[in-house]
Amino acid sequence: MSETNAWQIRAVELQPQSKAFIDGEYVDAASGKTFDNFSPHDGHLISKVAAGETEDINRAVACAKKTFDDGTWRDMNPRDKKIIMLRWAELLGEHREELALLEAVDTGRPISDALNVDAPNSMQVIQWYGETIDKTYDEVAPVPGGALALVTREPLGVVGAIVPWNYPMIITSWKLGPAIAMGNSIVVKPAENSSLSALKMAELAVAAGLPNGVFNVVPGFGAEAGQALARHMDVAKIAFTGSGATGRKMMQYAAESNMKQVCLELGGKSAQVILSDCSDLEKAAITIGWAIYYNAGQTCNAGSRIIVERGVKEELFAHLNKFLESFVVGDQFDPNTQMAGLVSKVQRDRVNSYLDLIGQEGEKLIFGGQKTSGDNLLIQPTLIDEVKPDSRLAQEEIFGPVLVAIDAKDEVDALRIANGTEYGLAASVWSSNITRAHKFARKLRAGTVWINTFDMLDVVTPFGGFGASGGGRDKSLHALDDYSGLKTTWVDLN
Ligand code: NAD
Repeated sequence: MSETNAWQIRAVELQPQSKAFIDGEYVDAASGKTFDNFSPHDGHLISKVAAGETEDINRAVACAKKTFDDGTWRDMNPRDKKIIMLRWAELLGEHREELALLEAVDTGRPISDALNVDAPNSMQVIQWYGETIDKTYDEVAPVPGGALALVTREPLGVVGAIVPWNYPMIITSWKLGPAIAMGNSIVVKPAENSSLSALKMAELAVAAGLPNGVFNVVPGFGAEAGQALARHMDVAKIAFTGSGATGRKMMQYAAESNMKQVCLELGGKSAQVILSDCSDLEKAAITIGWAIYYNAGQTCNAGSRIIVERGVKEELFAHLNKFLESFVVGDQFDPNTQMAGLVSKVQRDRVNSYLDLIGQEGEKLIFGGQKTSGDNLLIQPTLIDEVKPDSRLAQEEIFGPVLVAIDAKDEVDALRIANGTEYGLAASVWSSNITRAHKFARKLRAGTVWINTFDMLDVVTPFGGFGASGGGRDKSLHALDDYSGLKTTWVDLN
């Protein structure tokens, strides 16, 4: 049996846990309702997932609050907390194949990515934050004599995390790691089409010794479970990753409830700028290709616009065409596949609607561009040239394998175009002159900038954006500040 067939069979035979996970155990939704979770790969019914609603969120938040108020986790000896988080990371490693399969079945992503990127990255994030627990110190402020002022980080209480479907496990771990390391309790509301990996992560956390109620998962629809969580009066913070439209609602829900903190990680339209002195156009083309087509473009920081300074386009496009011809597009369970289908028909139709725009303002299709229909969720990698900087194709987040190319007269023009969207998540610049590249990078309005590369990411560096990309920052030690509040304690020494 081929490896592809073996994975396909495992995917069909999978019987995942799909109830809510509250207070350390799997439970049905209070209403008994479920929703069908279909595979994007072949449409089979993966599972019936508990459809959490207000009552389930209330129950999960009450458990999380009780555990927090009891101090079971918050006040545990830091070294013991660290041991539990490290054991949890170990279990995530031991269950790598199962987690990768759950993620692949839910999202349609290539199994090789789920195995080699999503599962190990999530494990590393939990491990890294576990390590911070007994290595971060608070402060003594340099106040005038006769007094002592301690500045300590205090956990916030119950954190609500609402996550999308494009990298469910990785994004969930970005919230879990710092929130739990800081002593908070958390209720996660996964996206409708990707609940399974979060549930397994919670089960493994409890198996590692995390007290019941610290990490709860309530699957369900955004408008019901998501809204109930974001409006809950006992939730101290909402950590949200998703679309701008839903991000706005988070702010509104917070304002209309308890003014909880809101941390937003939203979309992007990241620019890859190729200046005319880029000396390795072949490397640039390969990097550009991966930057947009990885995960079929369903990446918030996907490098979805290339801005090419006059003089290098012809050679760059020749390399890009070569990349596209050798890029392996196909069955998600074939270990050689580099890009598979989109997550859902809804997403496919959304991408189709952008393909309809090609040619309307003089755009030229260079590669791909065909719409698909029915059960076919695979859209070929697409490259479109001569896109106007202010057109919808250049301004809106497509969230599919669609790369648009925009001409720039010179460096000034390139910078204006690169910064000319409402987003500010990520960007790259290519130049063989490092001084020029640095100066350009400084002027790019983006939370992450790469020089002569793209997509170098690590838990040790913060990730987030400016403007409509949301101002939240996941990862790194800075995220610890996001999941805590500063408390000053004065002592009179006189
Ligand atoms: P979405 O906003 O539709 O959904 C995200 C989450 O919000 C889901 O769990 C959904 O159930 C929930 N939700 C939806 N409506 C809600 C409501 N009214 N109240 C409460 N919760 C609600 O986004 P999506 O389609 O799942 O994800 C794609 C978007 O996420 C893209 O725009 C992408 O760029 C963005 N994204 C950003 C980052 C980042 O780190 N900046 C990472 C991944 C994805």
